[in-house]
Amino acid sequence: MLEKTGVPTKEQIDSVFPSEERMKKGPFVVVECFQKIPCNPCFTACNRDGIKAFEDINDLPDVDHDNCNGCTLCVSKCPGLAIFVVDMTYSEDKALLKIPYEFLPLPREGDRVMGLSHSGEEVEEVEVIKVQNPKGFDKTPVISLTVSKDKVKEVRSIKVPKERDRSEDEIVCRCSDVTLEDVRKLIRTGHTTFDEIKKISRIGMGPCQGRTCSQLVIREIASITGQDPSSLLPGTYRPIVKSLEMGKIIEALEKEKLKSQ
Ligand code: SF4
Ligand code: SF4
Repeated sequence: MLEKTGVPTKEQIDSVFPSEERMKKGPFVVVECFQKIPCNPCFTACNRDGIKAFEDINDLPDVDHDNCNGCTLCVSKCPGLAIFVVDMTYSEDKALLKIPYEFLPLPREGDRVMGLSHSGEEVEEVEVIKVQNPKGFDKTPVISLTVSKDKVKEVRSIKVPKERDRSEDEIVCRCSDVTLEDVRKLIRTGHTTFDEIKKISRIGMGPCQGRTCSQLVIREIASITGQDPSSLLPGTYRPIVKSLEMGKIIEALEKEKLKSQ
């Protein structure tokens, strides 16, 4: 089932939870990594031997729940988003569940959002208690949620309403450091095509050539001007050019000339 759908079975999930006795002692890690791949950031992130040393880079992580204090360092570092932290001692009827979350917009503390299962089905409404957004391109935000104790093996993601306004200091273009606020200001002052915004802000001119930012800008133009996003042009793209000294070109031509003599 996992190989075809990416969804682990109930038996697989049960197998990565610790004993009832350990669960009563406080937060613990749940590592839902069931396929052998060359990967080990969970081990290198942990400074408490909560994940045992790998003999082979393809090994599955071997967890020592007695060493783990649920710090979430490994949750944020796992590229497979396969690690969660559970605290069954949070309250009488609720557990605290910490999940990795890579979508935008991020939820905010105090939000009540829908908790989703491994396969994206709605499970129950959950409350967002904390949003940790560590700096660094290889660190995933970690969201703390309160979940009914009998649902801690089911809830693995959340659905944040799309219409929810995003933080204006959110970076839209990482190559040129352009924020959502910069983009909105330009649209509101009459620059309503991607090309205009690109020429003023340099958005889409970096190494990624607008792979992500172009869609984000088009979405903003559509939402502010009331246009259909499919009617908006994505802008003109040109490959990145690197300047070259004329001397190098002459040198190369002379070498070619010598070879052919
Ligand atoms: S939650 Fe913290 S202590 Fe536990 S395995 Fe992960 S990094 Fe180690
Ligand atoms: S970092 Fe994540 S995906 Fe990689 S081995 Fe560890 S748990 Fe699995």
